[in-house]
Amino acid sequence: MKEILVTGGAGYIGSHVVKMLAKRGFVPIVLDSLENGFADFVKGHELIMGDIGDYGLLTNIFRKRKIECVMNFASYIAVGESVEFPLKYYLNNVAKTCELFRAMIECNVKRFIFSSTAAVYGYPTRVPIDEESPLAPINPYGRTKFMIEQVLRDLDEAYGMKFIALRYFNAAGADPSGEIGESHTPETHLIPLVLRSILDDNYVLTVFGTDYNTPDGTCIRDYIHVNDLADAHVLALEKLLGKGESTVYNLGNGRGFTVMEVIQTVKRVTGKEPKVTNGPRRAGDPDVLVASSTKAMKELGWKPSMADLETIVETAWRWEKQRKRKGW
Ligand code: UDP
Repeated sequence: MKEILVTGGAGYIGSHVVKMLAKRGFVPIVLDSLENGFADFVKGHELIMGDIGDYGLLTNIFRKRKIECVMNFASYIAVGESVEFPLKYYLNNVAKTCELFRAMIECNVKRFIFSSTAAVYGYPTRVPIDEESPLAPINPYGRTKFMIEQVLRDLDEAYGMKFIALRYFNAAGADPSGEIGESHTPETHLIPLVLRSILDDNYVLTVFGTDYNTPDGTCIRDYIHVNDLADAHVLALEKLLGKGESTVYNLGNGRGFTVMEVIQTVKRVTGKEPKVTNGPRRAGDPDVLVASSTKAMKELGWKPSMADLETIVETAWRWEKQRKRKGW
């Protein structure tokens, strides 16, 4: 069975990928510092506690094990924080990721799947956004992902490192088991925060801007279920193992929902009233971000199976109730 190193595998998206890899016959080995991850999310799988910038640790792993591919989820993801503390982002998401690459090249591990983001497009020039759209990130977070995509192209050229970069739109939802889900500190994402406004008496959701150029004035985003993302990772892995060439794919449902529509969906699914107030725009939010994922569908045979916003919210709701019971 093929061993796959999953850095950041104890985090939100990583843990769903780990579960899916195991289900599809791979052996995930998780490397996670547990700074933002949870050992409980990867129960039953091997977990090595450590940092992607630890060259010695990585070469050790690569020499002892036969790692067929590395999937990297170990990155910081908060746009606002990246503006305030850019070096934190450049050091982890770029410099330490390059150390990981250095260890991979040294040990002849030459397949890599990268968590990229729609943020590499910045303010899109056309919607839906396809992979040929101009890359113009507008914050340090997006720039770190953009930079690594460029580094990967150079590594392919110089050393034959084959990579697939997956540009996620809005990852959302949770594994239907309710065992793993989204848990960020602080949480900045819309769906968990709308749910929090129901579960926490003291929390009111602020809608960031009601004067966007959209039907109800709130931003439109393309929400994609985390297990559909996980599925795309396994398909990308299978492509690379089958001698596939390096490339990039957008991953989204191709359908956009306004913030208000998300709030209404939460209300319908939970039967409860979210507590909401209107606030000013958040810096750096484009009006509309919707993916064209035609390329992933054609080339990977990917087809989201939980595309419906109600299903996405339902699974997130199950997770939120579960973790509230467990006191997480
Ligand atoms: N949003 C909001 N209030 C919040 C968090 C998010 O109105 O407390 C909006 C945000 O402005 C964006 C959408 O919800 O238009 C999705 O934001 P999120 O942070 O979940 O994902 P992003 O689009 O930043 O990746």
